[in-house]
Amino acid sequence: MTEGIALELAGELLRSARRIVVFSGAGLSKASGIPTYRDADGLWMNQEAVRFSHAQDLERDPAGFTRFWAQRLLAVEAARPNPGHLALAHLQRLRPSTRLVTQNVDGLLTRAGAADVLELHGSLRRWRCDHCGNRRGPWLFHRCIRCGRRARPDVVMFGEMLNKGVLLDAQVAAQESDVFLLVGSTAVVYPAADLPQQALANGGQLITLNAEPLALDHSATAVLHGKAEELLPLLVEGVGLPPGSA
Ligand code: NAD
Repeated sequence: MTEGIALELAGELLRSARRIVVFSGAGLSKASGIPTYRDADGLWMNQEAVRFSHAQDLERDPAGFTRFWAQRLLAVEAARPNPGHLALAHLQRLRPSTRLVTQNVDGLLTRAGAADVLELHGSLRRWRCDHCGNRRGPWLFHRCIRCGRRARPDVVMFGEMLNKGVLLDAQVAAQESDVFLLVGSTAVVYPAADLPQQALANGGQLITLNAEPLALDHSATAVLHGKAEELLPLLVEGVGLPPGSA
């Protein structure tokens, strides 16, 4: 299938869908200057990221942990939503029942204007204190103002459980979706690997949009290979058009 035909088919699927779920991963934010994990220039090539990816690393090296996560927060705050984020927020305005589920912790979909984003791995833009339970801040140089201990970003680190309520909402949305669009994720780690399967098992159709081929492409009705920041605006443009005019 050529890219043009795949784009038309994906547009048609979205246009006729009643319930759309868009599941995004790190590839969506790459054009905003935030590295992915597994690409050649990804975070896993960064020794610091490997050293500070577990919650216990806060006890092992408190200063290093805070420095690493504060730098990541600064990078996220300096980043801007790219045309991919803006297109997804626009899709939600065109189709308000659309649920946006993301593995990203950068908050860029919300900053692009999207509503009720299900952030499966939390947000770097929220911090919390695991010692006294304070989640509200304010944080004084990343220390808890209530107990003085070091705060940590409200993200799911390795070895930690996902928030059950957020995960359940994402699973229900996937099961109820008739079109599930996967964007910029290798989709190999739970629950990324599971949500598209839940959509498929309940009769939903899958669209994959990724820079490189994915194992899941074999289960997809439409496969788009390319950059999210280029393809999503083209895809969403068609959804706003009256039927038959795309
Ligand atoms: P990943 O790094 O495993 O995979 C990203 C995928 O995106 C790759 O398959 C790559 O080919 C593709 N990609 C790269 N650039 C792209 C582009 N411009 N358009 C479309 N696709 C592109 O990322 P993942 O599957 O999201 O899993 C990594 C985990 O790391 C997630 O759980 C997430 O929480 C975390 N993470 C988050 C951020 C962020 O918040 N922006 C960044 C890095 C990692």
